[in-house]
Amino acid sequence: MKKELFNLSGKTALVTGANRGIGLAIAQQLAQYGANIAITARNKQQLQNAKNKIQSNTTQKVQTFSFDLENTKQIPKLFEDILSQTKQIDILVNCAGINKRSAAEDVETKTWEQVIKVNLTAVFLLSQQFCQHRKKLGKGGKIINIGSLQCKAARPTTTAYAASKGGIAMLTKSLAVEWAKYKINVNAIGPGYIATDLTAKLKADKDFNKWVISKTPLERWGLPEDIAGAAVFLASSASDFVTGQIIYVDGGWLAAL
Ligand code: NDP
Repeated sequence: MKKELFNLSGKTALVTGANRGIGLAIAQQLAQYGANIAITARNKQQLQNAKNKIQSNTTQKVQTFSFDLENTKQIPKLFEDILSQTKQIDILVNCAGINKRSAAEDVETKTWEQVIKVNLTAVFLLSQQFCQHRKKLGKGGKIINIGSLQCKAARPTTTAYAASKGGIAMLTKSLAVEWAKYKINVNAIGPGYIATDLTAKLKADKDFNKWVISKTPLERWGLPEDIAGAAVFLASSASDFVTGQIIYVDGGWLAAL
């Protein structure tokens, strides 16, 4: 009976940035718990590979949509296209994200705008579309944003990324308080350092790798799978009274001095 708390059967989850890394791990677990899945990213071959991976151990429906989230004007159409195929979207996971590193004084406007568009504006616009859809159905819904340790604190050379993730923290709270009346729960997950393509160069750097492990009480990098359990919780009825929260899945990073 307890398992029902986390049961996602009959639900459909849209997960952005799910052709690899954290998004794929989340999509895999949501499917394991019974959700049908729609995944987006740009790279079509990686989308197909991700679909095969998800379907290798579930019978859930998986649909792929290749889309560049920098095309913010086209986001309403993307959502419409996805909805016309899936018929409903109960859970929205905003996971796609990029980071462009350079000294703050050298960041070009184009780069700043690119990071803010993908990491923040697209999250807002997809959430708006999701809200309109769920409002019409009158059945509530779940939005899960992927934040970062940089929702809370900054590092040199990641100005636009930190600004976007700080924005995610307040966007999550803002939408949570405004859309509570529609029974739409809006929460975020703040991953610590997770071994993915995004951090491959950092992990390969001996000093950086040592620093990450020394700062993480659990003394390791996280894996994409480490993030997926919190996503299942936030997608399921187990979290029906949780909204406006950021759950840090960081091996204890933020708890330590
Ligand atoms: P990856 O680089 O492995 O995955 C990023 C995903 O986003 C890919 O699916 C990528 O697909 C997609 N994406 C990137 N740019 C665009 C775009 N313009 N349009 C559509 N999709 C896009 O990174 P992670 O899995 O590590 O990161 C996922 C999320 O987790 C991000 O929001 C990141 O900020 C966050 N995070 C990651 C941490 C880590 O240590 N790894 C720590 C804290 C937060 P494609 O390139 O094919 O478009």
